[in-house]
Amino acid sequence: MLALLTRFLTRRPRLCLGFLLCLLLLSGTLCALPLIEYKSGKVWPEPKIVDPGPPGGPPSDAIVLFDGKDLSQWEGGEKCEIADGALTICGKLTSKQSFGDCQLHVEWASPAEVKGSSQGRGNSGVFLQSRYEVQVLDSYDNVTYFDGQCASIYKQRPPLVNACRKPGEWQTYDIVFQAPRFGADGKLATPGYVTVLQNGVLVQNHSELEGETSYILPPRYKAYPPKQPLELQYHGNPVRYRNIWIRELSPMEPLGQGPVQVAPENDAKKPNSD
Ligand code: MG
Repeated sequence: MLALLTRFLTRRPRLCLGFLLCLLLLSGTLCALPLIEYKSGKVWPEPKIVDPGPPGGPPSDAIVLFDGKDLSQWEGGEKCEIADGALTICGKLTSKQSFGDCQLHVEWASPAEVKGSSQGRGNSGVFLQSRYEVQVLDSYDNVTYFDGQCASIYKQRPPLVNACRKPGEWQTYDIVFQAPRFGADGKLATPGYVTVLQNGVLVQNHSELEGETSYILPPRYKAYPPKQPLELQYHGNPVRYRNIWIRELSPMEPLGQGPVQVAPENDAKKPNSD
């Protein structure tokens, strides 16, 4: 093989030199070409600045529903005891303000003294739009039906894991709620979705809501105005709540109507630039 190559180089030196030069020129040209950056062509508004506040919030754009002092943002809590920055629920609490899509932070604690079992132990609930219950229950060493245990979408979906703390300890729910959408004909256009972190652990991951929570009926949807109050359930157990805040989320973009589309623009980009 080497002999063959030597003979070829000897007989065709000019051809070999030309080929070599072409290779050098081509590689140099390729190296000199600028990188072309991809751009989506979508125009996005600048994200507004939000101060996240202390650990656990509230962020600067949150609506504080309970700061440990009074229940002025609620109806139905007149007789509930407030002590040490927490309220003990004694009846259904309904927020005075209504909400659609939202991010909700709730801290709660089931009674330190364990009484009852299954659904009768530390039962309460966060009712999004007064309709969809994220179950509050003492599920620490307390077995019940799985789609009714703590952090379940009640009677619809169990939590991914049981992330409960011991009775009496404070726990957090961080909930992201996307409200269902209804058409002008009253029919469901898009179901609701719920994501829940309990004590920082993901327990509901964009779970689709099958309809309104009911104890005796299967879940089903019925059209209603897009904003509704938040409810905290009273189930006969003295569950405590504190540090409740909510952030309203901007409406979702209508399907097929994303950010303003402009003609894609591709800029030449220098190598190694950001
Ligand atoms: Mg409940």
